Amino acid sequence: MPKFKLEYIWLDGYSPLANMRSKTQIKEFAHFPKLDELPMWGFDGSSTRQAEGRSSDCMLKPTAVFPDSTRKNGVLVMCEVMMPDGKTPHPSNTRATIPDAPDAWFGFEQEYFFFKDGAPLGFPRGGFPEPQGPYYTGVGYRNVGNIARELVEKHIDICLDAGINIEGINAEVAKGQWEFQIFGKGSRNAADQMWVARYILARLGEAYEVDIEWQCKPLRGAFNAPLDWNGSGMHANFSTGHMRDVGGKAYFEKLMAAFSKHMDEHIAVYGPDNHLRLTGLHETQSIDKFTFGVADRGSSIRIPHSFVNNGYKGYLEDRRPNSAADPYLVAGRILKTILTVPTT
Ligand code: ADP
Ligand code: MN
Ligand code: MN
Ligand code: MN
Repeated sequence: MPKFKLEYIWLDGYSPLANMRSKTQIKEFAHFPKLDELPMWGFDGSSTRQAEGRSSDCMLKPTAVFPDSTRKNGVLVMCEVMMPDGKTPHPSNTRATIPDAPDAWFGFEQEYFFFKDGAPLGFPRGGFPEPQGPYYTGVGYRNVGNIARELVEKHIDICLDAGINIEGINAEVAKGQWEFQIFGKGSRNAADQMWVARYILARLGEAYEVDIEWQCKPLRGAFNAPLDWNGSGMHANFSTGHMRDVGGKAYFEKLMAAFSKHMDEHIAVYGPDNHLRLTGLHETQSIDKFTFGVADRGSSIRIPHSFVNNGYKGYLEDRRPNSAADPYLVAGRILKTILTVPTT
């Protein structure tokens, strides 16, 4: 029987930004292991801010499994953290707080910076490149440098080999800034895939001495002058069965009233330092306002043209979540708000 390398991935207890952690377990299987064949596992929670030293065991419960084409017989196992009883979710387990909604679909647009030697990839040492303008969807060494393209290409291939539903990539507005999109059906599916896609990207950077900067506004402070550089978002596109199949203007208006009412709860889980990014500039709305508008990239929620043309049916884009937000918390909050709105 082949021996598989099972890479168990989980989120640690750091706040406000959890880190990804992982370790390998070798196990024999007759074939590529299915989710329900993967055992629970444990780790030392006192090293990850998830337990005290005296009673340090936390449990890892597999939630999603993907082939890892970068390793012979490699398996990526996304896990959630459980208490020592194996049944109670650990307080850091944000996945466990997501309401069930099998007909919900999410599409996340993950923006991020490649960082090397303390600056975005492609920034001249101690200085700044040309102002923003040519970098978004740019081509050529002057605009994208010589490493980024190789990294994003490899990222696509490893995600596709894993069966992750990556939908595209593009170079973004700031130099060294990129985006990828992930789509999934179900309340937790897209978020599971997003964490694994983030993991793959972070691991890929190691050999290139490149880090992935998930923070939403890394170019401030020392980098602030002479220009205000774009921040990074994680736009959350969402729909439910009711939004896609029934919809209607009246339901849409009730939905937006609920989003407005719960504005603070949304912002609370849309990522740290979001006040630095949601300024009303750079295609964002200010953090203390809730607005929606057709094709309006300066609003909190953008309504695609297709939504209105189809009788207020389809998906909406919440533009507020930032690049460092936990997609479990984002999906969970969006569903909680939607579930407050009666569909009849
Ligand atoms: P833009 O950059 O113009 O905002 P993108 O093409 O980068 O748009 O992202 C659009 C996102 O919307 C994708 O992640 C896609 O999967 C998602 N999406 C499309 N249709 C739906 C739907 N019905 N429900 C939820 N998400 C959707
Ligand atoms: Mn996009
Ligand atoms: Mn973008
Ligand atoms: Mn978008």
